[in-house]
Amino acid sequence: MSDSYDLVVIGAGSGGVRAARIAATYGAKVAIIEEYRVGGTCVIRGCVPKKLFVYASRYKDLFEIAPSFGWDVGTPSFDWATLVANKDKEIARLEAAYIAGLEKPGAEIIRDRATVTGPNTVKLQKSGRELTARTILIATGARPFIPDIPGKELGISSNEAFHLEALPHSILIEGGGFISVEFATIFAGLGVHTTIVYRGDRLLRGFDEDLRVGLEAGLVARGVKIIHQTNVLGLRRTGADITVSFSDGVDAPFGAVMFATGRSPNTAGLGLEAAGVELAWDGAVVVDAYSRSSIASIYAVGDVTNRAQLTPVAIREGHAFADTVFGDKPTAVDHSLIGEAVFAEPEVGTVGLAEHDAATQGDIDVYVTRFRPMINTLSLKSDRMMIKLITRPDGGQVLGVHILGPGAAEIIQMAAIPLGMQATKADFDRAMAMHPTAAEELVTFKKPSYVYRNGQKQ
Ligand SMILES: Cc1cc2nc3c(=O)[nH]c(=O)nc-3n(C[C@H](O)[C@H](O)[C@H](O)COP(=O)(O)OP(=O)(O)OC[C@H]3O[C@@H](n4cnc5c(N)ncnc54)[C@H](O)[C@@H]3O)c2cc1C
Repeated sequence: MSDSYDLVVIGAGSGGVRAARIAATYGAKVAIIEEYRVGGTCVIRGCVPKKLFVYASRYKDLFEIAPSFGWDVGTPSFDWATLVANKDKEIARLEAAYIAGLEKPGAEIIRDRATVTGPNTVKLQKSGRELTARTILIATGARPFIPDIPGKELGISSNEAFHLEALPHSILIEGGGFISVEFATIFAGLGVHTTIVYRGDRLLRGFDEDLRVGLEAGLVARGVKIIHQTNVLGLRRTGADITVSFSDGVDAPFGAVMFATGRSPNTAGLGLEAAGVELAWDGAVVVDAYSRSSIASIYAVGDVTNRAQLTPVAIREGHAFADTVFGDKPTAVDHSLIGEAVFAEPEVGTVGLAEHDAATQGDIDVYVTRFRPMINTLSLKSDRMMIKLITRPDGGQVLGVHILGPGAAEIIQMAAIPLGMQATKADFDRAMAMHPTAAEELVTFKKPSYVYRNGQKQ
């Protein structure tokens, strides 16, 4: 076996797998190196198992409203071990599909840890082999950032949350981002007493305020306790529990503690600095619009570049890289309009400008509606859905769509298409409503709820 390749990819996650597969399809001789499992974070311990767990947790809400539709479901019980085993089976199936997808066009999968030793050389840790490559692609993703506090080793990250032997009686989740609120949804839905502690004053920083307020209200209604403007200072073992010391002077015991305090680009110990690759303050590989690093033969895609830590972005960057370098089609990825979903309860879907950003960029009209989703109307469940449209004045361009409630992520995927086409409110209104749906609200708004003129809300 020759150790010389057109392309060596480090990391078989969302970005690396796509890049390797497409480059191999163009006829390149490709090796892809993976130290853990093929599929990367999203497939093995991110999006996919997370969403399966979210589905599991939502049965709690369905069981609650089932009697209002005439169903008697008795006393439902839940078995964590069954969920984990079935999830593992599905992840193994997906991993096999990823492996087949790489092998079919001829990419060689190497199970090892790689370090970069020069602009065109990569060393394999276990086998000691040194590979040479015309091009190297860094697609090593990100890893959980764990605060450096006493007792931090007693806590878990999302990595371990997927393989807990048993559900704890209670959990403290530190962090205010999407991973924190999604796991709070999961644990609370599965019957775990769940608390979020966050140093800021509201969860989901940067999202539209109405989404943030509505999400917190929904989580609290589901029994999640939220502690704001507080940090965890230390953890210590007390019997079967972990006692947490908070920055407000309170000590409290929890069955488990999870850090959801961000994810750092995975470049530590990778040899990039020695090879001359420029890294940002947070360790991210600095790249240009074509994902090329400061060394001409080394590229990087996905979370390791910290442009947007999302799977579809990593995939798009990996594909664009392969088109650029091996397909003779220079392709830059447009990062300007990235929709986001948060699979919490209530679910969040958002694309385009948040109200606070849009209002600083000229006059806008804001259309908002809040209503009880139809699925709850026969029960006492009082959750409300929120749909918000932000437009330029008088039926002008739609700048942002923000949805909180059932199906938000699915709806927002479709709303992202007209936003990318710079559709106007009049374009939205031309679409015939689908009735009865929640999404029909997007095309039936008559008058703005309020407007901003010269930066002032009116
Ligand atoms: C809990 C959780 C939930 C998420 N949910 C969503 C979601 O719902 N939607 C969404 O879009 N995104 C979600 N994400 C983010 C998403 O998983 C990432 O954005 C995506 O996986 C990034 O792809 P990547 O190719 O950059 O890196 P990864 O998928 O992380 O792949 C990197 C791979 O490189 C390997 N590797 C690292 N260093 C080396 C080395 N030196 N040698 C060999 N191999 C190495 C790693 O083992 C890993 O397999 C979630 C993430 C987490 C943690």
